[in-house]
Amino acid sequence: MSENAQPNERVIPLTKPPAEGAAEGEGEKGPSKSALKKAAKDKEKAEKAAKRKAAEDAQKKEQEANDVSKNDYGDLDVDGAWPEDFPGEDKVPYVELGDLEEYFKDTSKMDAPGGPHITFRARVENARSQSAKLAFLVFKKGTATIQAVVAASEELSRQMVKFASSIPAESYVLVHALVKQPKEAVKSTTIQNLEVHVKKLYIEGKAKAQLPMQVADAERAIPVEGEEETSEEGRPIVTLNTRLNNRVIDLRAKHNQAIFKIKYNIKKLFMEFLDARDFIGIDTPRLLGSASEGGANVFEVKYFDRQAFLAQSPQLYKQMLVAAGLERVFESGPVFRAENSNTARHLTEFTGLDLEMAFSHDYHEVVSLLEELMLHIFNGLRQNCKRETDLVRSIYHVEDFKLPEAGKVPRLKFPEGIKMLRDAGEEIGDFDDLSTPQEKRLGALVLEKYGSDFYVLDQYPLAIRPFYTMPTTQTRASYDPANPNAGYSNSYDFFMRGQEIMSGAQRIHEAEFLAKRMREHDAKVDPESAGLKDYVAAFEAGAPKHAGGGIGLERIVMLWLGLPNVRLASLFPRDPGRLTP
Ligand code: ATP
Repeated sequence: MSENAQPNERVIPLTKPPAEGAAEGEGEKGPSKSALKKAAKDKEKAEKAAKRKAAEDAQKKEQEANDVSKNDYGDLDVDGAWPEDFPGEDKVPYVELGDLEEYFKDTSKMDAPGGPHITFRARVENARSQSAKLAFLVFKKGTATIQAVVAASEELSRQMVKFASSIPAESYVLVHALVKQPKEAVKSTTIQNLEVHVKKLYIEGKAKAQLPMQVADAERAIPVEGEEETSEEGRPIVTLNTRLNNRVIDLRAKHNQAIFKIKYNIKKLFMEFLDARDFIGIDTPRLLGSASEGGANVFEVKYFDRQAFLAQSPQLYKQMLVAAGLERVFESGPVFRAENSNTARHLTEFTGLDLEMAFSHDYHEVVSLLEELMLHIFNGLRQNCKRETDLVRSIYHVEDFKLPEAGKVPRLKFPEGIKMLRDAGEEIGDFDDLSTPQEKRLGALVLEKYGSDFYVLDQYPLAIRPFYTMPTTQTRASYDPANPNAGYSNSYDFFMRGQEIMSGAQRIHEAEFLAKRMREHDAKVDPESAGLKDYVAAFEAGAPKHAGGGIGLERIVMLWLGLPNVRLASLFPRDPGRLTP
């Protein structure tokens, strides 16, 4: 019988007549002899169990009273407040695990009287009992992990050892410990030449014993299609879907933390570069009264008693602000695409890094600035995020990203790209848009020829670009009203590893010409319509010539690191099938 079993309190009626459906053994004259015997036996059993439990409880109480460590471990109160006698920073330094090695670089700290003590808070990566007297734990914080020893002694009870070894993995704990140099370097942790000997240990945030997935499983690459469900070592290979369903646990994987540090750095480098060149950060609306850029791929939302739309890009607003006199603007913000395309590179919500600027002579001034911007980001990542990049690439094994020599970003005219593809055996028309496989093929050809994973394709066919794109001078000179979308345009795409990361162009800044292009574009729009009237009016008020571009932040992250899916570069990705968590 278990500790919690209760004595059997069933009362056997001795005189009551049997009810309908009475239990076996209860005859007309009351319970039978055998029923009475069974009841007595049950009673005796229950009494014995109650006695045993009382004895165990008493023993437990006594042990607790004699537990020398009773004030050194346990669960913190729900508000997480430290116990009163837990040493504060005035007595023991609080050191983050990530800073520990740096902290003890000054080796004189190891000679502190009574040994160097620290306090810290961390997560339990795992806890195991070696014996009743010894437990080993691994603590982690960020990307740092350290081995911890909990050893019974005159000052540390076996109860505390048992408590430590049974803390569920992923619980968040508060620790006071003595720092020592292990006899041999600990190979399984990132901090190898230091270990901590626990003196006090409290649980701040307890994890359930059975989490829906293990962080250790998230530390591995997502399975490629057709891969076995278990690895050679027999561990489950958790699918991307399961990981995204349990994203909070998934994000604890060290390489996932690294991915988002890299993402944040890209955004910072983007802003820093433009800030240094007199750009102004802007915030344009995400809620629009009409689907201004054409209507396809736009999400509708209910807006009080009207209909509204989520912005597909800040394009029209960026340009209106250039017309408003801001001249150099940039923005980092969410953009929404109702593209029902379940590919590895499309999200329905992603982060757009956008910019727009007036230029003085030729739109290539802007292309050059954009190239410099991308090189600033790549070089910044090499400098600031080498450790993170290496960590992610140790999981997703891809070649290092090959950068062009400074000032030598391959910039190909569209027909040149078509020729390279044709020479390699691709069938493609002069003015066809490139398919995804063709883009990848061209990326490989450029890498072979120029040794760069980054390149620019310039002057796309006018017909495959949006209505606001400026035609080339030559295209305008040979304008044919019967074929108004023929020829090329002052537009460009940027590519990393053969996949598009940015689209941009010189935009039309002259109102009449803009309205004309709107009407004659293959995907015709009405310049008088509610969504476009204000946009056209911006240019009627006189605007400078300008160009810009829109970059997908998650695409840069994915392609810099060689991730197999763009969802891995979004904290809580949104795609046609996913709106949670
Ligand atoms: P693609 O042809 O790859 O679908 P696009 O031509 O629709 O892209 P633009 O509208 O020019 O893309 O958007 C500018 C940039 O935004 C793209 O170069 C890409 O980096 C990013 N981007 C566009 N659509 C998505 C998406 N659905 N998910 C993630 N990033 C995207």
